[in-house]
Amino acid sequence: MNRPTDKARLLLQIRQEGVTDLRILAAFESVPRHMFVPEMFFEHACDDTSLPIPCGQTISQPSLVAVMTSALDVGDRMKVLEIGTGSGYQTAILAYLCRRVYTIERHRLLSLEANRRFHELGIHNISTSVNDGYQGWPAQAPFQRILVTAAAPEPPPTLLKQLANDGIMVIPIGPADKKQTLYRLRREGESFREDRLIDVRFVPLVEGDISET
Ligand code: SAH
Repeated sequence: MNRPTDKARLLLQIRQEGVTDLRILAAFESVPRHMFVPEMFFEHACDDTSLPIPCGQTISQPSLVAVMTSALDVGDRMKVLEIGTGSGYQTAILAYLCRRVYTIERHRLLSLEANRRFHELGIHNISTSVNDGYQGWPAQAPFQRILVTAAAPEPPPTLLKQLANDGIMVIPIGPADKKQTLYRLRREGESFREDRLIDVRFVPLVEGDISET
């Protein structure tokens, strides 16, 4: 489940992906992944694989969460916007590293469950919202960092507008269920410098109405 040896193995896998930042490793050390997966998968909570969560969604593979977190280059005074709360695991990792995370999820049930977990873990620097992430969180913009954890055909213009100057957005780009690429975009005034990172596979970023389940 969450035996120390399993956790050590997971941390080793994260290091093998090239993530050696001690603050990030400490975040993974402190956030218990088994609390974010359905009970039937407790035993696999420390495996380096994605797992199903309710509403047909997935909790991402831990080493990928680490790579995305590392690419985001989060500082402890930053305000971070996350699109796609899902289980809340990535959110909790970010919350460990920054001042406050604003996280948006379109499934009400997932958002409620994630909120309960944050409460149980005593994490108090996360604001959740049930909404269409394509709209971002205008009242709190600009954000120094934006992380999108579902794949979009292109970076949503509204989110690009909510990125602070010099800010970084990490986002998987590509068609649903086909090859997608993780991008890191850095805002330089009105233009964006693009870095292609790795090939990935995410659930799609769904535009429009929220889902009451
Ligand atoms: N980071 C999450 C992974 C979640 S999977 C984790 O570690 O558990 C991506 C999530 O994005 C799903 O929960 C999905 O419902 C959500 N999502 C998809 N489109 C969205 C949108 N337009 N706005 C907000 N959330 C969205």
